[in-house]
Amino acid sequence: MTVLRCATTNPGKLREFRAAAAHFGFDSIAIEPVENLPALPAPVEDGDTFEANAAKKALHYSAFTEDPVFADDSGLETDALGGAPGVYSARFAGPNATDAGNNRLLIERLQGAQDRSARFVCVIALAQRGRLLATFRGAVEGRIVDEARGANGFGYDPHFFYEPFNATFGETPPGRKMDVSHRGQALRSMLLWCREEL
Ligand code: IMP
Repeated sequence: MTVLRCATTNPGKLREFRAAAAHFGFDSIAIEPVENLPALPAPVEDGDTFEANAAKKALHYSAFTEDPVFADDSGLETDALGGAPGVYSARFAGPNATDAGNNRLLIERLQGAQDRSARFVCVIALAQRGRLLATFRGAVEGRIVDEARGANGFGYDPHFFYEPFNATFGETPPGRKMDVSHRGQALRSMLLWCREEL
């Protein structure tokens, strides 16, 4: 059994990663939290790419355990806004922004824009004892709709329309979203890599 440590303080994310690993059939890989993570000093997420932020987090926390550590960074890119909110997705509307506030600002900024194309991007970095082992990127293309639809998911999901499902991610059940999502793709790539290389 290979143990991977997930560098997140968010129990929802840990649960989601575990469920996805089981869903994808990786039963020889166990995903555990980095022990005591809330008590450890946190790194500053000041990189200007998803790769930089994910690597920074994974490298930082890899100093506290022998097991490989992974960390993710993700966000929404819109073409009309030159890639924004991008790495600032969580705090688009300010340092203490809520999902509702971020969504409001997104729709406001896109008023009048013809081009509604957007993508969710997720990068997972894997590190061990201060060494970056690899990074994995996933992306899913969609378009931003003005009206929020659906109560599933989080963040920008209710405004992210995914053509193949003819639905927003807010209207998509979690397992179905993970099959196609940026996070699902990045996670699957990492698990495949771990199965071969660790
Ligand atoms: P972080 O990766 O935890 O830093 O979060 C990045 C931010 O990007 C989240 O707070 C959301 O606003 C947005 N985001 C990332 N992935 C998703 C997704 O799957 N659905 C909706 N919003 C997302």
